[in-house]
Amino acid sequence: MSIVFIISAPSGSGKSTLVERLMFEDRRREERRLQFSVSATTRPPRDGERDGEHYSFLSRDEFLRLRDNDELLEWAEVFGNFYGTTREVLRKAEQADRDLILDIDVQGAAQLREKLPHAVTIFILPPSRQVLESRLRNRSSDSDEVIERRLSEAAREVVDYEQYDYVLINDQLEDSFERLRGILLAERCRTNRIKESVQNILEGFRTPTTP
Ligand code: ADP
Ligand code: 5GP
Repeated sequence: MSIVFIISAPSGSGKSTLVERLMFEDRRREERRLQFSVSATTRPPRDGERDGEHYSFLSRDEFLRLRDNDELLEWAEVFGNFYGTTREVLRKAEQADRDLILDIDVQGAAQLREKLPHAVTIFILPPSRQVLESRLRNRSSDSDEVIERRLSEAAREVVDYEQYDYVLINDQLEDSFERLRGILLAERCRTNRIKESVQNILEGFRTPTTP
């Protein structure tokens, strides 16, 4: 059964870095276990972003049509653009028997917590506000004004951390990645998720074969 992992974080905390690394490792496996949830968005592509791979880039009308046809599991307006997770993405992950990784904002995570109560939610925090600010500045993709907006949004978002199953303080990248990987592994071992495999083993105990 597919597990849905919802990862949220204030902008600049290192969410994309961690998720990209997770997906990179997964692509190198013989049998892939993860599916990245490609969101629909009205924001224009950044350099290097490809339609259908990083996002499905839509016009405002196309996005609103999806929303009005109830094809979105959740959606939110973030920094003036619409973002949403399509039902199709979840269906595909279930068909492929892969765990789904969602990189969505705190508003989207709150909506999915209601709709998908078995989803595993992970909140990524920077080690401090100062570090977040310096990461945003070093990333060099935003103007001072946008950075200020992201920092004040972050102040609102961090108070939500208790709503999540896990909190990952992203200080040293290697260490954070190891903990993220550990969360995925542990969740796959939960008793209720491995019942089917256990039943097969138990069956062998019920009908022992003589050597
Ligand atoms: P988000 O997706 O949360 O907005 P990014 O993954 O783009 O954040 O990370 C913001 C910046 O911080 C990037 O330049 C990234 O390389 C850097 N970064 C991410 N994690 C760490 C870390 N643990 N230590 C130092 N720099 C980091
Ligand atoms: P960016 O434009 O930097 O890629 O993303 C901006 C914010 O939108 C990030 O916090 C990201 O997690 C969030 N986001 C991306 N896709 C979705 C989505 O499908 N739904 C919601 N609610 N947020 C999303």
